[in-house]
Amino acid sequence: MNEFDILIVGGGHGGAQAAIALRQAKFAGSIGIITDENELPYERPPLSKEYFSGDKAFERIMIRPAAFWSERDVAMLLGKRVESVEPNAKSVQTSGGDVISYGQLIWATGGSPRRLLCDGGNLNGVHVVRNKSDVDAMLAQLESVDSVVIIGGGYIGLEAAAVLRKFGKQVVVLEAQDRVLARVAGAELSHFYEAEHRAHGVEVRTDVTVESLIGEAGHVCGVKLADGEIISAQMVIVGIGIIPATAPLLSAGASCGNGVDVDEFCRTSLSDIFAIGDCAAHVNSFAGGEIMRVESVQNANDMASAVVKTIMGEQTTYHAVPWFWSNQYDLRLQTIGLSTGYDTALVRGDIASRRFSVIYLKHGKVIALDCVNMTKDYVQGRALVLGGAMIDPAVLIDTSKTLKDILAEHELG
Ligand code: FAD
Repeated sequence: MNEFDILIVGGGHGGAQAAIALRQAKFAGSIGIITDENELPYERPPLSKEYFSGDKAFERIMIRPAAFWSERDVAMLLGKRVESVEPNAKSVQTSGGDVISYGQLIWATGGSPRRLLCDGGNLNGVHVVRNKSDVDAMLAQLESVDSVVIIGGGYIGLEAAAVLRKFGKQVVVLEAQDRVLARVAGAELSHFYEAEHRAHGVEVRTDVTVESLIGEAGHVCGVKLADGEIISAQMVIVGIGIIPATAPLLSAGASCGNGVDVDEFCRTSLSDIFAIGDCAAHVNSFAGGEIMRVESVQNANDMASAVVKTIMGEQTTYHAVPWFWSNQYDLRLQTIGLSTGYDTALVRGDIASRRFSVIYLKHGKVIALDCVNMTKDYVQGRALVLGGAMIDPAVLIDTSKTLKDILAEHELG
């Protein structure tokens, strides 16, 4: 079939959720998903966690069982990459030369992992972590590897480090900034995770610049730092962020900056084309109205659901509280809200007990919480973030009271 009422480009979290929500809403038209991967939609977070560690087989991370898609009459066009979009003709062209027409297009392409541009960046043994095939390639080499250098101390790099320690590998994490997680969390959380990784035998090095990767017979064998030091490595994992996958839309004339620009209904500047998930730059009211891309399952799913409501005639703006999680060792981090632009970070609980929350304030308002092994704070903190609660910091960190009680007392006045 070369024509769909709704064509979804990208079969990741956002794309899959859009198709699921359309059928749930009793959308009766034809739906097609084109994706350049050869897999049916699967969950990406386990790629650096349970799938990488072997705790979950691929079948357990599929978003829906294979039969679901055919039962719901969602056509899956796997292994096809959309190369161009023709907004006037309302069609896309794929890498194989197919031309596929659409009534409405949902662009849900995520991003491609940033690669190292320095010498040696393409050596064998240098990996990124975005797709199942990336992780399978790492796993295939891992048995013969003792030492791994991870470049980038973000969530993906740190999660991979935790798994690799479980496998007994020597692990060095190299971070260019002065602390890990600098882009997404406050210093309290960064220093906590640095200490945890060191306690588990990871060498965490901050403020370091990678100059090049060194190879032997085409395979990576070391990382050279700007000061000339060479760290030996039989494998290198690069976790330095993504570049939103927007090139075909940009060429088609869509307004793009850091991603595809979308309005509050997730509409791009091209008619009948929506964009959702990691690639969609939107005004986020939980970040004080900043235009940003949010890279999380929540964001992809909730944008998909909002678009589907709009398609079904119930014009719905995207406005959902951001949440996120990360599992490392026995630590479960749960985040609610966005800490971007915070001016105060309060620690609630005792960091040494490995159960605590960091509460972020901006101009006195609660904007986000990072909760480590503190699910109750995470669940109850949602209301504080939603309401932008302004509560005395001394009260917020009083662990003799739950956040729910603190909020109730505050509302009573
Ligand atoms: P994706 O899920 O990336 O899907 C996009 C799909 O589109 C991909 O299959 C891609 O190959 C395909 N595609 C791209 N371009 C084209 C094209 N031109 N034609 C056809 N197909 C194309 N988020 C959390 O909330 N919690 C976590 O713990 C967490 N952990 C993560 C761990 C890892 C290792 C990774 C990689 C991500 C993690 N994330 C996590 C982020 C989360 O997975 C993403 O935010 C989410 O997948 C975004 O969904 P999406 O639909 O926008 O993009």
